[in-house]
Amino acid sequence: MQTAEISRRYIDYFAERGHTVVPSASLVTDDPTLLFTVAGMVPFVPYLTGVVPAPFPRAVDVQKCIRTNDIEEVGKTARHGTFFQMLGNWSFGDYFKEGAIEYAWELLTKSEADGGLGFAERDLWVTVYETDDEAAALWQKIAGLPADRIQRMGKSDNYWHTGQPGPGGPCSEIYFDRGPKYGQEGGPAVDDNRFTEIWNLVFMQELINNVTSKVDFDVVGPLPKKNIDTGMGLERVAFIKQGVENMYETDQVRPVLDRASELSGRRYGADHGDDVRMRIIADHIRSSLMLMSDGVTPSNEGRGYILRRLLRRSIRAMRLLGVEGPTFTDLFAASRDAMKSAYPEVEHDYSRISQLALGEEETFLRTLAGGTTILDLAVSKTKESGKSELAGDTAFLLHDTYGFPIELTLEMAEEAGIAVDRGAFDTLMSEQRARAKADAKSKKKVLADLSVYGEYRAKGETVFTGYTDLQT
Ligand code: ATP
Ligand code: MG
Ligand code: MG
Ligand code: MG
Repeated sequence: MQTAEISRRYIDYFAERGHTVVPSASLVTDDPTLLFTVAGMVPFVPYLTGVVPAPFPRAVDVQKCIRTNDIEEVGKTARHGTFFQMLGNWSFGDYFKEGAIEYAWELLTKSEADGGLGFAERDLWVTVYETDDEAAALWQKIAGLPADRIQRMGKSDNYWHTGQPGPGGPCSEIYFDRGPKYGQEGGPAVDDNRFTEIWNLVFMQELINNVTSKVDFDVVGPLPKKNIDTGMGLERVAFIKQGVENMYETDQVRPVLDRASELSGRRYGADHGDDVRMRIIADHIRSSLMLMSDGVTPSNEGRGYILRRLLRRSIRAMRLLGVEGPTFTDLFAASRDAMKSAYPEVEHDYSRISQLALGEEETFLRTLAGGTTILDLAVSKTKESGKSELAGDTAFLLHDTYGFPIELTLEMAEEAGIAVDRGAFDTLMSEQRARAKADAKSKKKVLADLSVYGEYRAKGETVFTGYTDLQT
């Protein structure tokens, strides 16, 4: 089943059941606290919080999303893209838990011949919030699921809120069992690779306040109007229904992967490292295409910097596949052709998009040529002297003179088998910042805004991410 067909079935199913079809909002949000639309709920926040009355009691949509905090997973897991599409059905004070569970179960398990998605009941598992007995009972009643296929999860997985005082509520997630080849028995609580999350149902039922983290908040009481917010990963359902190994092998993504394979002469499936690189390229090229189509242009700050990083990572991955020259003409055309039927704007706007991409590629290939020599030399010197860390001042020189972001130096050093003296680099950076501040007086900011790197940092930092860590 093609990706477009899954999307069509989802929209039709809910439209036939009284849901207003709402077009996808842009990847670029109006919300200043968010870089991108990270989930289907983002454009609906005003309705969900009650700030604006919802113009319809029920809605259905397929929302374009970007999640940069999944960037490290891309190509390594089967299921994480930086760009993906989230199908969603919404109830604003209309149906609640029972309706949401009934609809989800029916659409998933209805046969393909009858317009459903044709999942076998035996392959599906669900989770509910640890105290949500009501949801567990409904799953038993509606789906007839045995108790051991309904697992309980805590706040960090199965409770939703925006990070602000306002609506909150338990979630229930639906998982597909890919089979013993992909991991251990025991359900999603044990193995989230074998058991792949496909759909998150959020039951917004209460008002919360004193929110200090994802798991620390107080429940004030029930919401007068309860809402349903759901998010199904289109690419995840697509890879399962298409019988392929991961989302990068689906019809909307695979053509770019194949192009990368042709251009490099490396066969997909022959080497794990190369496969990961081809998957990263396929993902990042598509994300870049979609971002540029929504008006983002490469730059050193904010959204533009994220785009720049996706483009540069693609170029670097092609180099690691042994291709030194430009490849964007081919890769972007392949992605455009795979995406244009779902998003005709990528074709209409293609000459502008490809000019941006090619300009960025040309500049970065030049940067790379200069900095790589310096880095290679420094790496061999470091190794010769028996050290395991590249000096901080080399990383600083690469940053300051050759335009290498620290993440690039870290990645390239790691590939060469050594670490980087990050502490020394950070000290040099803050010294430079202090100097610039002293110089600047009333001048405009001259340094790249490094705060955007925060999005890419390893999870587990204690910063409060608010919307960047949304569940649907
Ligand atoms: P996971 O635990 O697998 O990372 P999630 O819990 O972060 O997923 P949600 O925030 O609940 O995901 O988003 C709703 C749905 O969107 C998920 O059930 C999944 O199908 C899909 N989804 C989420 N993140 C991605 C991604 N990076 N790429 C593709 N699909 C995604
Ligand atoms: Mg996730
Ligand atoms: Mg999850
Ligand atoms: Mg989830």
